[in-house]
Amino acid sequence: MLPPVLIVEDDQKLARIVRAYLEGADFRVTHASSVAETLCKLDEEAPLAVILDLGLPDGAGEELCQDIKALGDIPVIMLTAKSAEEERIAGFALGADDYVVKPASPRELVYRLKAVLKRYDGTATSSQPLSFNNGALILDSRRHEISKSGQALTITPTEFKLLFTLASAPHRTFTRDELVSKALGYHFEGYERSIDAHIKNLRQKIEDEPRRPEYLKTVYGVGYLFCGERDAL
Ligand code: CA
Repeated sequence: MLPPVLIVEDDQKLARIVRAYLEGADFRVTHASSVAETLCKLDEEAPLAVILDLGLPDGAGEELCQDIKALGDIPVIMLTAKSAEEERIAGFALGADDYVVKPASPRELVYRLKAVLKRYDGTATSSQPLSFNNGALILDSRRHEISKSGQALTITPTEFKLLFTLASAPHRTFTRDELVSKALGYHFEGYERSIDAHIKNLRQKIEDEPRRPEYLKTVYGVGYLFCGERDAL
């Protein structure tokens, strides 16, 4: 089953209309009305794409857009009342993939969403899975799946991002701060320690002996690094 499209919109009526159109075009849909709710949904549901209203009750959609982009390659279509050219350019500078001005035609929105997803699909298919130690550990970024000795693991989107970040650069030490911005994408203070909790969970899942990790090594006083020999595919 494909992940859902996340509609971020505090205008409930508009959100319902957009949902109806997307569902009519066979997308699964999830909805958030605030920045806080969006951050939860991003972690829990790893959406296929985000349709983002810029005027939200608890924060700026512009900053949220940057957070979403820092989380990974998630297409973002900005939905906004701001139509001035400078505003559009600012939106693209924040990483938005497309921009639709309200009042938006839901048909146009569906069309633009499909166009953006098509562009992403082209880039995603070229990304090979990361395989280590003769296939003992495989990270498939297209499917967001990890398998250990051929067994698929149950893993949260955040854990996947974190492991993928580390495994993309084996033997390079990442500070907690770097991991927060690369894997979590949050600007908030105090998230550094949450990295430790995610690493602990990951070790339980991917290591033979979580207390004597083979892949996820602690670099004392600095952060973490991933050890593993990348297989030639
Ligand atoms: Ca709004």
